[in-house]
Amino acid sequence: PKYVYRFAEGDMGQKDLLGGKGANLAEMAKIGLPVPPGFTITTEACRAYMRDGEVPPELRVEVTMALREIEDTLGRRLGDFHDPLLVSVRSGAKFSMPGMMETVLNVGLNDASVKGLAEFSGDDRFAWDSYRRLIQMFGKTVLDIDGDLFARALDDKKSAVGASTDVDLSADDLQDLVTTFKGIVQDATGREFPQHPREQLEMAIAAVFGSWNTERARLYRRRERISNDLGTAVNVMTMVFGNLGETSGTGVAFTRDPSTGHSGLYGDYLSNAQGEDVVAGIRNTLPLADLEQLDPTSYGELLQAMRRLETHYRDLCDIEFTIERGKLWMLQTRVGKRTAAAAFRVATQLVDENLITMDEAISRITGAQLSQLLFPQFDGDAAKELLTTAMAASPGAAVGEIVLDNAQALERTQAGASVILVRRETNPDDLQGMIVASGVLTARGGKTSHAAVVARGMGTTAVVGAEEIDVDVEAKEVRVAGRVLHPGDVIALDGTTGEVFLGDVPVVDSPVMRYVSDGLEAGLAACEDDAMRELLQAVDRVMRHADAVRRMRVRANADNADDARRARARGAEGIGLCRTEHQFLGDRRVHIEHVVLAEGDEERLAALETLLPLQREDFVELLEAMDGLPTTIRLIDPPLHEFLPDLTELAVKVALANADGGADARDVRLLAAVQRMHEQNPMLGLRGVRLGLKIPGLFALQIRAIAEATVRLREAGKDPRPEIMVPLVGSVRELQIIREEALGILAEVGAAAGTELDLPIGCMIELPRAALTARRIAEEADFFSFGTNDLTQTTWGFSRDDVEGAFFADYLENGVLTISPFETLDADGVGALVSSAVTGGRSTKPDLHMGVCGEHGGDPESIHFFHDAGLDYVSCSPFRVPIARLEAGRAAA
Ligand code: PEP
Ligand code: MG
Repeated sequence: PKYVYRFAEGDMGQKDLLGGKGANLAEMAKIGLPVPPGFTITTEACRAYMRDGEVPPELRVEVTMALREIEDTLGRRLGDFHDPLLVSVRSGAKFSMPGMMETVLNVGLNDASVKGLAEFSGDDRFAWDSYRRLIQMFGKTVLDIDGDLFARALDDKKSAVGASTDVDLSADDLQDLVTTFKGIVQDATGREFPQHPREQLEMAIAAVFGSWNTERARLYRRRERISNDLGTAVNVMTMVFGNLGETSGTGVAFTRDPSTGHSGLYGDYLSNAQGEDVVAGIRNTLPLADLEQLDPTSYGELLQAMRRLETHYRDLCDIEFTIERGKLWMLQTRVGKRTAAAAFRVATQLVDENLITMDEAISRITGAQLSQLLFPQFDGDAAKELLTTAMAASPGAAVGEIVLDNAQALERTQAGASVILVRRETNPDDLQGMIVASGVLTARGGKTSHAAVVARGMGTTAVVGAEEIDVDVEAKEVRVAGRVLHPGDVIALDGTTGEVFLGDVPVVDSPVMRYVSDGLEAGLAACEDDAMRELLQAVDRVMRHADAVRRMRVRANADNADDARRARARGAEGIGLCRTEHQFLGDRRVHIEHVVLAEGDEERLAALETLLPLQREDFVELLEAMDGLPTTIRLIDPPLHEFLPDLTELAVKVALANADGGADARDVRLLAAVQRMHEQNPMLGLRGVRLGLKIPGLFALQIRAIAEATVRLREAGKDPRPEIMVPLVGSVRELQIIREEALGILAEVGAAAGTELDLPIGCMIELPRAALTARRIAEEADFFSFGTNDLTQTTWGFSRDDVEGAFFADYLENGVLTISPFETLDADGVGALVSSAVTGGRSTKPDLHMGVCGEHGGDPESIHFFHDAGLDYVSCSPFRVPIARLEAGRAAA
């Protein structure tokens, strides 16, 4: 293979081979911008080095050829004692890994060439300082010597001569320091600092290769989900100096304003300085515009170069440049990083300038960026005291008084306070508190724990699994970070970062949220300045385009009319999942308890009777809110542990009462029933369709309520479109039994009302067996909805309630997982089941309607998967609807 590419040989399409920096340097050289001569050693060479433990022999030869070409062009030799060629050696991987890997500058300097450099620059001090920097950098990064040794020697020298900064050291001081530094190298490595320029170069290249595999680089890649196999490229570039006097300098520039997207000149310049000086902030930089006075020629060239780059990349670029004695050099460019707001504005601005199409514009903006714009945020400038950081389960910024239970939550909110519900963990009993709270903080549980799912559904900020927090309800104390907090104390939760702060932190609301909820007019009215108004216009254009191009529909998961209306306002085109068990959280829980624990038909029927009117009302409200849009109502799916009293607590209560002279008869009976129904693995137990089959009349009641609600609304001239969904189906027979029962009820209610109720009846695909037998299940289903929460739980065998706190951290650390499969669909495993079920289902019914209603329906990466898999819609929490619309558009564009 060819291991070395001259800059002029490559192009920006070769990031795999040349790394990001190398590919962009090549592109600049190709379009005729002034890039210092140099070459890129490929990532393939790095991979060979990692495999064999040494640099491939061909690489040496290729480096010689490339180097000699540069030497011949410039008429200078690497490390010559007269006007020496010096080079920088920098890493450059495909994905940027800021600060992770090595750079060595001034390679080629030695005892002889330092004099050549002094002669060429006419500046002894500059030459010795450059040499001193080489030994220091080389010693640290190539020879692995403790950097403190050099830093300390430098400080010692400064105090010895009374210099307050590096700049105050004279040429002689620096020459002394070079001697000291060489001594450090000798002592640490047992050999002299390598004098041979080519040897320096070889060693620097190998060190950059080696830096790919340092501990911190591996850690960084795990976090960023970058593969370890890629390797890094190495860029060898002729050194140019910005610190050769007043006609030299260095700077950074953007081709357009990164915050507004407007084209123009943005950046900083520092004369008589090198890149590191800008970073170190030793002197204040000048605005780039000042360069026009200092050096009009270079300024003009820079403007031209920026225009060329923009035309070429058709995107905002950032640039590093150096001017050496009046000559402009481009050292680096890349498509510039930007804030979420800038991403929208830059993209639409580029469309207005006819540089990109709207399809391209939406491809450059992510759902994650949109989501950042939706949340209220803590004022970035405010002072904060961090208490702990845990799992960011439901985004937003919430501030309020600590409350420890429902009663306090209600009492304080009724008194007008904003509250944060702090619990060890939450269960369905806490729903009331969660509804009124601004935020929820739990000490236990993961991202799909009850607290997290419910909070996300309600759009309530939540931080979960904060293990450093000790919630003591008895003592009415929350202990964290050495502090003891009490109800009434104010804390602040950042549901986007998982941070928990002490005290009141100012929050700013988002006009973008206003826009997605109430439309452009309302959003614009909420804006405080023109920049915000421009941003909203940009968001609106992007959203309208995404809606126009997407193939998948976007529905919402909503359990009640309020959520449904909210989702609809945000663009939801239906309800993909109404979890009817959520309609029984809180006060109504006892009704389910009665049904489940009923002994004998009579008792059970009575319990069911009380439910019918409640459910009918629920459905009337929901269907009315979603008038004219498909509304998937799932028959009840309560894992029993979420609905029955806790066995241990109840047993203790009864035992104590007995000791006290006799327990309540009802409690005794309840305990017996709970004992009878107790399951070791409730999530794998009597829930979903199993419960429906086990308890006669339960599903029938819900189906009747749906049918009657439909009749009622039709009679009122409305257009209700319910779809009946059966949960946790594993076998076609389960569905068949329920379907037959449902058809009977629909026929009966329809006949009585004189209308035909041909409501779609379908099922969730949330067990591997359902996915694998989808061909059969499709015979009885009018639609499928993938329940990827349970499908992930049962495919991996991970308990969705426990796993994140238990060992996900380790799994992320050691690379078994790169992200929670409950958050982003595991495409290889769970995704394979989804794809196979799509194929199976459509082999039976080519038009079978399919969607997804697990949490993944709102996750950007997963949405692209579902688009490719051929699903008809995704369903997600109301909050995520706009994000899903954008991502579905991006997937199709
Ligand atoms: C699922 O399992 O993905 C699903 C949507 O159902 P639930 O989360 O209610 O179990
Ligand atoms: Mg499920």
